[in-house]
Amino acid sequence: MHPAPPKLKRANSNTRCAVIFLAIIFFVIAAMVFFFNPAQNKFYPVCQFHRLTGLNCPGCGMTRALYALLHGNILAALRDNALFVAGIIFLAARGVWFWWKRPATEFFPVRWLWLFLLVALVFTVLRNLPAFAFLSP
Ligand SMILES: [Zn+2]
Repeated sequence: MHPAPPKLKRANSNTRCAVIFLAIIFFVIAAMVFFFNPAQNKFYPVCQFHRLTGLNCPGCGMTRALYALLHGNILAALRDNALFVAGIIFLAARGVWFWWKRPATEFFPVRWLWLFLLVALVFTVLRNLPAFAFLSP
């Protein structure tokens, strides 16, 4: 006879509060980017990695990609930062699923963070190679 599997706990309220807090921050930033084009306004922070090295970090072009996404220009968003677009789609889908199903898992398990860091590292290397210039903003 096998022992009964352990019961899974629902996500705690801290996780839900963190998701709501992050969503609010995202929508405030999105509203600002929607109304103030990053290509025309100089108050947005400049990437210090790019300024110092001339290379593109995984976040370079993210603000312009968000602006393009918010204005329905998906191709321009992909040109500016494909990793950001893929990440937004993934997080939105995960958020909807998480909210709808209320699973007993974490919103973003730690092992996914390691996978994301690996993907971001590969993306960073590729976008700085001449053969993959299409990944640069
Ligand atoms: Zn950068």
